[in-house]
Amino acid sequence: MGMVSQTNGKYLDIMIENKFKDTDDCALKDISYREMKNGEYILYADRAELLVVNREVALTVIEKDKINITKNKKLFEILKNNGFLIDEHNEINGLPKEPKNNIFRMLQIFLMVVFGLSVLLLLLYGSQKLIWNSLYIVPFDRRIFGLILIGISFSVGTTILHEFMHLIFSNNIKNIKRMLSISLKKSTAYVSLTHVWTWSVFSRLMAVSAGIMIDIVVLSILLVIGKVLNNEIETILMSIMFLRIIWQFGFHRKTDGKYFLMMLLDNPLIDIDYKTNRNVLTKKEVLAWRIACVIGKIIDLYLLFFWIMPIVYKTILWIGGRI
Ligand SMILES: [Zn+2]
Repeated sequence: MGMVSQTNGKYLDIMIENKFKDTDDCALKDISYREMKNGEYILYADRAELLVVNREVALTVIEKDKINITKNKKLFEILKNNGFLIDEHNEINGLPKEPKNNIFRMLQIFLMVVFGLSVLLLLLYGSQKLIWNSLYIVPFDRRIFGLILIGISFSVGTTILHEFMHLIFSNNIKNIKRMLSISLKKSTAYVSLTHVWTWSVFSRLMAVSAGIMIDIVVLSILLVIGKVLNNEIETILMSIMFLRIIWQFGFHRKTDGKYFLMMLLDNPLIDIDYKTNRNVLTKKEVLAWRIACVIGKIIDLYLLFFWIMPIVYKTILWIGGRI
């Protein structure tokens, strides 16, 4: 999953009473918003950046109080720079709302159940070899090119599935065309989930974790297949899936795990504040983020020593004709 950068999120504490000339210029997009645990508000609009503001400012913006917005030059500038004003050049789309119907709720519960069963299956029957030993898996002989090709196809297919799950659980299927065009331009899988910040806690956590949940389901399916026909292709596909799941727990990178944690702690600015302005965070937030960063670094070391280095070493031996 990708998210629109939140680096432009700004706190607005002071209302500056500045007369602003351009009152006609102030047409706001539809604002999506939510009050956070700490009493501040999250504001969002189509193709905008997420803003975190205090209650007073939030109400001014939500009520589209033109007079006060144009009076406050700083606020006006921030809304303008972060994409909250209607721009003639861009068509405006409504933001996907949080579905409140039973079908959506049943889908969420269904995914939770299938995910829970998959985790159980992996815990009961998963092999520790997958975690501790990557070397035995890859046969370095003529078959390797075929296996690489299968691995790449599998990666592409499961990435599409992963992103598709984000689309469904963020109620964003309608925008699939736009998403695809952005994805092609950036040549990377990209589903924006920023709009779910204004949803209820369960729905936003489901939207951000739907991808990794389906990855874990796929991994458990591979495990079952492996019990029937134990061959190296299935083992390699399991390793690919396993590594992609582990990768998501790199909380210090832009991963689903990081956004999950931000949404759980209900603070979209926690990462930026942790790096630049730590004293605005609560002790709990600082501790939680510190632990998350340590876990992320441990995962980097694990990937380096248990996967990257052994594979590089084996490749060098292979090139040297020693295998
Ligand atoms: Zn994702």
